[in-house]
Amino acid sequence: MSSSLRARLWLSYALLVLSALTVTALFIIVYLIRNPFVYRQTFTHLQDIEAILQTNQPGLGSLPIDSLLPILKQYDQTYDVRLLILDKNRQLQADSRAGSSPALSQPRLLRILILNRVIKDDSGAYWLFIAEKLSDERWLLLAVPRQKVHLLTIIRDDLFLPFIEASALALILSLVIAFGVARWIADPLQQVVAASRQMPARQAASLPLKGPREVQTLTRTFNEMTARVQASQKSQRDFVANVSHELKTPLTSIQGFAQAILDGTADTPEARQQAARVIHDEAGRMHRMVLDLLDLARLDAGIADFQRAPVDIPTLLDSVVEKFTPQARKTGISFQVQAPALPPLIGDGDRLAQVLTNLVDNAMKFTPGGSQIILSTLQVGNEIEVSVTDSGIGIPSAEIAHIFDRFHQADPARKGGEKHGAGLGLAIVKEIVQAHGGTISVRSAPGEGSTFTVMLPLTPPADKSVAKR
Ligand code: ADP
Repeated sequence: MSSSLRARLWLSYALLVLSALTVTALFIIVYLIRNPFVYRQTFTHLQDIEAILQTNQPGLGSLPIDSLLPILKQYDQTYDVRLLILDKNRQLQADSRAGSSPALSQPRLLRILILNRVIKDDSGAYWLFIAEKLSDERWLLLAVPRQKVHLLTIIRDDLFLPFIEASALALILSLVIAFGVARWIADPLQQVVAASRQMPARQAASLPLKGPREVQTLTRTFNEMTARVQASQKSQRDFVANVSHELKTPLTSIQGFAQAILDGTADTPEARQQAARVIHDEAGRMHRMVLDLLDLARLDAGIADFQRAPVDIPTLLDSVVEKFTPQARKTGISFQVQAPALPPLIGDGDRLAQVLTNLVDNAMKFTPGGSQIILSTLQVGNEIEVSVTDSGIGIPSAEIAHIFDRFHQADPARKGGEKHGAGLGLAIVKEIVQAHGGTISVRSAPGEGSTFTVMLPLTPPADKSVAKR
């Protein structure tokens, strides 16, 4: 309980309230010591007597001193107040307790005019007084001994009870506020905790954003993480399903044709030859797929051994075209290379050749014989653009967004004949281009052909650097 958010909040509020109350009480105590309530009552009392005196004896300002003294003494006895008359120079003229009490020191003008109305007598005792101007010549002073007020008395009489009451009220209030604030913070946090506990088995909907901004940021990040984990789980499931599916077809036909050879169904040399060719082709296809998968796994793990060296793109285009020329001749496809002299690009030559090979391979697969494939390159700012354009069957617009997905084949029914792949080629191309800090895009219209365009920075940025791979 003590480590819970609610308890800690309450504790900190309680401490805050108590320290605020203590500081306030200290200030009040200091104030009261200097100016306790009893003093204020005394001053009021003195003012009342002075008013009575002035009303009953209006001639005080002008009466001769001799006739003043009995009046002062009479009022002193009645009200137990020491009465003094001073002249305009603050010199003592009459004192109702002259001789019976120690003489009072002369109050300075400032003391008379300002609130600090305390004077000492000759024995060192303090007196509270008020002064009133009777006439231009005369001042009247009313004084009483100052009672000693003890700190403990002030605390006990004036402060203890209100302090305790205020503390109790403040603590209850802080408990309520702490409870509210803790709910405000803890509830959305608990939601996140509950959601993360159910995480692996969950088709989690996004959590609502509630609570303070920091908690909302946490919830938002959690929602994003959930979406990523779900996407990754889905892609893992899809991946396994796709691999199994892609392996099932060639394995079934290998098994079927091997069976035919074994049980003698393929009884002529031609039939056996045909069965062996199918087994050979399907095994080759599986081999290519496994190599592609391994390649992708290495690219994913970031351990593919990328080089970082100057690459001359026009030379690269020529070498790729040269590689495909014999095959292109057979199908009557011709190549056109448009490549001006370009500055070298920093990257991995073999991997970039793999990109172009896959693109040209696709262009050849999906282009009818007798047409032309154009490879072009040019510099655009700090980037080099490389395009492979064919005039083949094109890609339906709904498919374009997916052709870079793993195992995606725009139309499995038209898989480029014998050498059809497993839909991994473009996924590998995209990974390699991205590792070079570049992008790949495609423009295509069914029946008119496709253009794949790769944009590569001359120098890969540090964080995407091929050297990091
Ligand atoms: P595959 O190994 O099946 O060719 P890719 O990843 O290379 O896999 O391509 C994915 C899909 O994109 C292909 O199956 C094909 O449908 C489509 N595609 C790729 N390049 C072209 C192209 N030049 N013309 C038409 N369709 C293409």
